[in-house]
Amino acid sequence: MAQEDVFKKLVAHCKEYGYVFPSSEIYDGLSAVYDYGQYGVELKNNIKKYWWDSMVLLNDNIVGLDSAIFMHPTIWKASGHVDAFNDPLIDNKDSKKRYRADVLIEDHIAKIEDKISKEVEKARGRFGDAFDEKKFRETNPRVLANQVKVDELNTRYSKALNATDLAELKQIIIDNEIVCPISGTRNWTDVRQFNLMFSTEVGSTSEGTNKIYLRPETAQGIFVNFLNVLKTGRMKIPFGIAQIGKAFRNEIVARQFIFRMREFEQMEMQFFVQPGTELDWFAKWKETRMKWHQALGFGSENYRFHDHTKLAHYANAATDIEYKFPFGFKEVEGIHSRTDYDLKQHQQYSGKKMQYFDPEKGESYIPYDIETSIGVDRMFLQVLSAAYMEEELKKEDGSSDTRVVLRLPSFLAPVKLAVMPLIKKDGLPEIAEKIVHDLKFDFNCQYDDKDSIGRRYRRQDAIGTPYCITIDHQTLEDQSVTIRYRDSMEQERVGIGQLKDIIKEKVSIQSLLKKL
Ligand code: ATP
Repeated sequence: MAQEDVFKKLVAHCKEYGYVFPSSEIYDGLSAVYDYGQYGVELKNNIKKYWWDSMVLLNDNIVGLDSAIFMHPTIWKASGHVDAFNDPLIDNKDSKKRYRADVLIEDHIAKIEDKISKEVEKARGRFGDAFDEKKFRETNPRVLANQVKVDELNTRYSKALNATDLAELKQIIIDNEIVCPISGTRNWTDVRQFNLMFSTEVGSTSEGTNKIYLRPETAQGIFVNFLNVLKTGRMKIPFGIAQIGKAFRNEIVARQFIFRMREFEQMEMQFFVQPGTELDWFAKWKETRMKWHQALGFGSENYRFHDHTKLAHYANAATDIEYKFPFGFKEVEGIHSRTDYDLKQHQQYSGKKMQYFDPEKGESYIPYDIETSIGVDRMFLQVLSAAYMEEELKKEDGSSDTRVVLRLPSFLAPVKLAVMPLIKKDGLPEIAEKIVHDLKFDFNCQYDDKDSIGRRYRRQDAIGTPYCITIDHQTLEDQSVTIRYRDSMEQERVGIGQLKDIIKEKVSIQSLLKKL
């Protein structure tokens, strides 16, 4: 099945099974805003717990914070967001569709890179084990020509973006004959800047109103609380502050479901270090964060770093962790070495000394900062993209059947176990209810007695429940039940008394955290 079709099915699945709903659906929806349903909210909470525990629980020098969404408007002047948090937008005059000029160019570069990868894969197939990829890339004329194109385009594009040269961005689009995906034409407007921050007003009109912004990132809430946490937490450098919270961006092009939303949630951690050591810490956090992603078991080949050639004005190194979504490798997390830019700016705008007295060096300085920043919603989409499978099953009579299953890591699954009486009589429902009652303090359990057992299993597969417990007549005799495993579909007979320990071990987040 084509990857786009898989993605469409995933979006439909999210709605059908209570994971994600379009916002305000009965009023025809609100573009790029989504609501999380009964299973979505559980998965989201579990993702947040995995992140939070890996930061705050595992590191005794990282503490948490929960700052407000509304902040003093000068913060956004100091951070550079009022003047520079812009996207370059361009309209196609025929389709009347609006695009981000940088995204059009990046997609074009990705297409050429894709051609190179296809060439390499073709050759790998031809040469088999003897294939020397490095040599092939250095000598194949088609690969070389395309690589030159990519390099030249990257250089020109970075220069234009760094200089905010909007005319040059348009020229790159024209010179590379980039067309509108809808109309197929090259009838473009000029490129214009568009600020992504939402604004609103505080105060009633009688006392005067003040324009304030909905935060476009959670990071600034950490920087402005730097001194508070430093003092009250008696922190010693290096130390980190972690925060999970909503952020808002008036994205020009909202695409790909929850990949790019106007209201979303971020998990950010700012790690403050001695100046001069920041690139070592940057390398360390790159490795740590990649390990966190790969520990989920979705295949290390599906992740890669994308180091930035174009650096934001505040950064001296930056990389993205990208995952291979059904629509290609895309950013899930950004890791940035933000230097002392933010604290310095706040020192200047607030007049407060944003410094740390280093007892070992005997001097005060503004620390440098490494940021790790990941979107909860994008991580949610990454997890579901990896977990969603349509499987062909061979039946005993030789015919085949398909099942849709979410192969979620057990500790992330919204429901850990479903308890099912085989039939709705003979005292079986009462036993099932008692099991749910006893286990619900430890796990998210679901009681299910509707339809045939096969259909019930499918329903649980579709929401990703890793374990199903079935109560049958044998249970009445020997207090044993069957436990059915989602991934292997194997079944095993165990005692009711053993259930808690068996499941606890399997759904525990601890064994995963210990691997990090
Ligand atoms: P992009 O290049 O995709 O616009 P970005 O580089 O602007 O993202 P950052 O500002 O580094 O993103 O934000 C950190 C993380 O927040 C991203 O890696 C992503 O996971 C998430 N994120 C950013 N914008 C959005 C959005 N509009 N919707 C959902 N998640 C987002």
